[in-house]
Amino acid sequence: MTGSFDLLVIGGGSGGVRAARMAAQAGARVVLVEGAPLGGTCVNLGCIPKKLYAYAAEYASHFEQARGFGWWVDGATFNWHALRTARAAEIARLNGVYERMLLAAGVHIVRGWASFEDPHSVRVASAEGEQVLHASNILVATGSEAQVPAYPGQEHALVSDAMFDLPQLPRRLAVVGGGYIACEFASIFRGFGCEVTQLVRAGGVLRGFDEDVREVLAREMRAQGVDQRFGVQVASIERARGELQLRLADGALVTADAVLSATGRKPRTASLRLERAGLKATPNGALEVDDVMRTSVPHIFAVGDVTDRMQLTPVALGEAMVVVDTLFGQGRRRMSYEYVPTAVFTHPNVATVGYSEHEARSRFGDVRVFRSDFRALKHTLSGSAEKTMMKLLVDAATDRVVGLHVVGAEAGEIVQGFAVAMKAGATKELFDSTVGIHPTAAEEFVTMR
Ligand code: FAD
Ligand code: NDP
Repeated sequence: MTGSFDLLVIGGGSGGVRAARMAAQAGARVVLVEGAPLGGTCVNLGCIPKKLYAYAAEYASHFEQARGFGWWVDGATFNWHALRTARAAEIARLNGVYERMLLAAGVHIVRGWASFEDPHSVRVASAEGEQVLHASNILVATGSEAQVPAYPGQEHALVSDAMFDLPQLPRRLAVVGGGYIACEFASIFRGFGCEVTQLVRAGGVLRGFDEDVREVLAREMRAQGVDQRFGVQVASIERARGELQLRLADGALVTADAVLSATGRKPRTASLRLERAGLKATPNGALEVDDVMRTSVPHIFAVGDVTDRMQLTPVALGEAMVVVDTLFGQGRRRMSYEYVPTAVFTHPNVATVGYSEHEARSRFGDVRVFRSDFRALKHTLSGSAEKTMMKLLVDAATDRVVGLHVVGAEAGEIVQGFAVAMKAGATKELFDSTVGIHPTAAEEFVTMR
């Protein structure tokens, strides 16, 4: 491939694919370099396969609760291999969809691993050999990778990438961490019938989320049978007599057949040879950018996880749109990081938009709090004791709703729509004057008094 491109994108994940496709559709000559299957973390090892597995795990409670509705489904069994195979086929289909979409937009796709040669050139290495590509503008969208803390035996710990294709379902799974991935995988593998122990160094799960959300989720996960231990640290892992033994800092021993370390992700820049482009990463490997995603080198941009801000697919997509608008559009688009909704696909789900009560109080001072805890209609017959929790935070001075939180079924589906209202500055009075949809859980948000 010869000649110079208008835009060279390193990384064909959420941010890279969106930027490449939109830039090509705007008439730019675009090349995208990707060393792994197209779609990045979200499609291959993140959001999509994770949510498919979360759906699979939910069947455990559906079967359990079916009898309350007159269905006898005793003897249901779960086949891990069947699920893995179905997931792999769906992800392969999506890889193809991404490729066809990029090609249809006119993007050149180069397979291989990229590193900078100089500020305008990138070397791509693949099994077929090496080539150097040149471009007027470069976008770094290389994402992030899991990080595992250092302790003796850390090599026995798996990261989330490995969980999708485990050869066998472990009977006992230890999950280290209390964040998104730890909570989601603990719930999912509990749903599959594994004995799950979750080891959290902090005093609760999901640090940074609203305290009531953290408490209610922990209670519900425990009710599902996840053995959660707070304030604990793994000191070492040893393989002995065919099992893994986790020694905790307080001396306690936890035994498991597999260990998942879900202890955060760091930007993936180590092999990019940033110095050749005149770039310098932060100590954590992140590329710092301004409000149009421009790095310290004016023609080099970065979006998504590699900037180490909000590691969420829709954020990477939004940032990619800013880059395309800056380079090939009107240059007016900016990304707002306020009121970004997010969901955690645990059992039950968590979803949230805006401020936690603690953040809201320190930012707005006088905050009115509305909270509702109730048993969802479904559970009046299902036999489940699961409670839904919904919470609204209102800035007393302006009546604006500044925080909205749900722990309950389909929380993500509920919160997405409310996020639009909150970005538009909706007040509590507006919520109160909105007519509910009955009977739903979501109507609670417009009836809270
Ligand atoms: P990525 O999607 O990771 O893409 C980066 C791409 O760059 C990769 O394909 C990689 O192979 C490629 N690459 C890296 N280095 C090079 C190189 N040198 N040369 C060529 N190619 C390179 N977010 C949500 O919003 N919702 C969810 O439910 C959700 N679930 C998740 C579950 C898990 C288990 C994980 C790990 C993440 C999840 N995320 C979720 C986060 C989401 O996946 C990321 O925020 C998102 O994928 C970031 O997009 P990106 O474009 O920055 O990076
Ligand atoms: P998180 O940052 O969410 O959580 C990391 C967890 O690991 C925290 O509980 C943290 O504890 C703990 N931890 C960090 N270092 C250590 C250590 N040395 N020893 C023990 N525990 C440690 O990261 P994840 O890996 O769960 O996920 C990465 C990101 O991916 C998320 O932040 C999210 O942005 C994205 N993601 C989004 C999802 C979604 O949208 N549904 C799903 C999955 C991932 P502490 O709190 O004390 O720091």
